[in-house]
Amino acid sequence: MSQPNEAFDIQTYMTQGVERVVSDALKATLRDPRESAFMLRFAAASRAASKKRRKAEDAGEHIPPFLIASITSQCNLHCAGCYSRCNHATVDAAPVEQLTDEEWLRIFEEADELGISFILLAGGEPMLRRDIIQAAGKRPGILFPIFTNGTFMDKEYLPEKYVQAMSVQQQEVYKPITLQRLMTMSVDGFPFRLSGSNWLEEALSIPLKEPETCTFAYSNVPAYLTGVAVSAAVEERLDQYLNRRLFRPLGIPDPPCQFSPEGYFYGATGMELTVNELSRIGLMLSREGKYGQKQIVPAAYVKDATSVQQMNREGGYGYFFWKYRDGFSLNGKWGQKCYVLPKQRMMITFLSHLEEGSDKIRGSMEKHLLGGNEGNDPVAKNR
Ligand code: SF4
Repeated sequence: MSQPNEAFDIQTYMTQGVERVVSDALKATLRDPRESAFMLRFAAASRAASKKRRKAEDAGEHIPPFLIASITSQCNLHCAGCYSRCNHATVDAAPVEQLTDEEWLRIFEEADELGISFILLAGGEPMLRRDIIQAAGKRPGILFPIFTNGTFMDKEYLPEKYVQAMSVQQQEVYKPITLQRLMTMSVDGFPFRLSGSNWLEEALSIPLKEPETCTFAYSNVPAYLTGVAVSAAVEERLDQYLNRRLFRPLGIPDPPCQFSPEGYFYGATGMELTVNELSRIGLMLSREGKYGQKQIVPAAYVKDATSVQQMNREGGYGYFFWKYRDGFSLNGKWGQKCYVLPKQRMMITFLSHLEEGSDKIRGSMEKHLLGGNEGNDPVAKNR
């Protein structure tokens, strides 16, 4: 029979766990000086918090370093297999009574004073309580990981001066337009493209008739708005962010791209890539986000982005990716394509600039590279 380990000290054990998390997080921020500076400040605060917990432990009171705060029971998704939905602990509507952001801030302050270093914000979907996320920002001595489905976008994500300029009625129209719906082209009512002198003002004034209805409706506007929202979230010009986080790690020198008249990344079109460069993106996606030894994009995101999220006549759409047979494709405007068929370990990339008839290249590719008809189709045989 094993003997209890009398030398085991829970506080030391937990503190070492915190130090490992902080050290790993610090390494992960080394490419971004702003993130590194934040983590260095947090590292100092977490050392002070460890001392508080040690003092309390020595006085006979155990303070854990982690806290989980379920800040809302509301969620904007209905995921298959969600245990919380199944138990009716997660619901569609906001609860009638719930703690306010001020009450949560008091809890965070008390936690800080006790020496708690991490508070995991969970839900439901915690991003629906933006007021609490902002309150959490007032306690820089605590790290607040957010357990989010990553899809919720509301007007707060858009640049403040544009939000202020929207009518109250138009702000209500935009409430159900989540980032996920923009990325899956499931907002009906946008024109195909914007044409004025300020696209953001123009997009935010479009009177969507049924904003709550999810219908596949292809348009340049959702990609443009997604770019604006991401740029606001990362507080950086989107082309610069993409160059740093995506293109340069793939060995692609900063590609030329287009901007809206008011200076936002176009998003929907206008980026120039060579066959080799587009293929690198396809290769990284076919390897679940990895390129060489580096994980460029999280594997879970690649899986979601390249799976069918919204049905359409073409067989389905992910997050800006089209379903193609049992794989997916990246499609450009004039017949630029990258087909990725992971099960067949196959990727086909070609570029064209045909305003009419670019589908003929696809027909030719299917005939000559994939075996012509279904009967001879090596992809179909493996389906
Ligand atoms: S996002 Fe989370 S809480 Fe919401 S339905 Fe999906 S699993 Fe459940």
